[in-house]
Amino acid sequence: MNHDILKVSNPNIKENPTLKSVYTKRAFPYPLHIGFTTSIPVEIIYAAGHKPIDLNNVFILNDSQRLVREAELSGFPRNLCSWIKGMYSVISKAPTAPAGFRFDSWEGLDIIIGVVQGDCSNTQSLMDILKDEGKKIIPFSYPYDRNKDVIENEIAKLEATFSVSREQTMTMKRRLDVIRKKLILLDEMTWKTNQITSFENHIWLVTSSDFNGDYNKYSNELNIFIEEASNRKPFKNNIRLGFVGVPPILEDFYSFVEQCGARVVFNEVQKQFSMFYLEDDIVNQYHKFTYPYSIFNRIDDIRHAIKERHIHGILCYTQSFCHRQLDILSFKKHLEIPILLIEGDIPGKIDERTKLRIESFLEMICYEKEENLINV
Ligand code: SF4
Repeated sequence: MNHDILKVSNPNIKENPTLKSVYTKRAFPYPLHIGFTTSIPVEIIYAAGHKPIDLNNVFILNDSQRLVREAELSGFPRNLCSWIKGMYSVISKAPTAPAGFRFDSWEGLDIIIGVVQGDCSNTQSLMDILKDEGKKIIPFSYPYDRNKDVIENEIAKLEATFSVSREQTMTMKRRLDVIRKKLILLDEMTWKTNQITSFENHIWLVTSSDFNGDYNKYSNELNIFIEEASNRKPFKNNIRLGFVGVPPILEDFYSFVEQCGARVVFNEVQKQFSMFYLEDDIVNQYHKFTYPYSIFNRIDDIRHAIKERHIHGILCYTQSFCHRQLDILSFKKHLEIPILLIEGDIPGKIDERTKLRIESFLEMICYEKEENLINV
């Protein structure tokens, strides 16, 4: 292996054994494809010149039912969250993913960054399985107590792994913040000027976790979208909803809600993934990120949005077999607003029972609005 080639291709590469062993396996060593299980400091991956890939987005935007089935055929239990099974299949299928995958030139994944604390209770075991199968794994953790020194340390470790300086991370953060400012505008066009649909808000915000692996392209497409949407007449949905919990696995979820005369004007976790904080410091940004820490930071954020966005009710979405189902207890205790818990399992369309529950919930909100029982 001629490492001089790597140094010419990527001046950030130093003598890092993890990266070196990966590079030696690739015909075209640069950039690496870095998969991750939930939001991580993507600035570092871009600063190193690599391609970040949110595995959740690859899973859900492709043949997700088949990917879940394939994981079950590999031995994954039926009573395990479909997102975990889907991510496993995405990783284990690489680099032989079928045509039609989200990335035009899918070349597989070189490294997986697994968030082993602050996201999913299953990730650690998933990483062990993948490691055993010979995948390169890098762990990343968000401390439950939101300790800034620990967050700083995790970010510094990731920078060291990819041989990126803090200055390089910050330069990339400033570039990405330009895109984030446009996403803030898109979000305002959702709840202030009412020109963006529930699904459009969801998809733009959720895909900003990796900017679809190419932030320049994402930024250009976002410009075009905002330009087109700014010429729309405002939507006139009667009921304004908040959506909390994990992003839905149900493909027609948002369109069904809109068919019923409501619109989601706040996608809580997706907005968190978009990092609207525009902080001067990378550590502060990931410290403000509410999703991986205690539920109480999320509740403050949701409460603020309910007031600011004049939200009439909350749809709380969780996955079957997910520990986050317990969050509903705290939401119901601390949010004084109608809340409906929706549970999804396998990818696909909403079942009739869930449709009925959503319809009944929205009828109840309509009644309470007419009777002035909702104070917004
Ligand atoms: S929905 Fe819950 S169980 Fe599934 S991946 Fe997310 S955190 Fe884990």
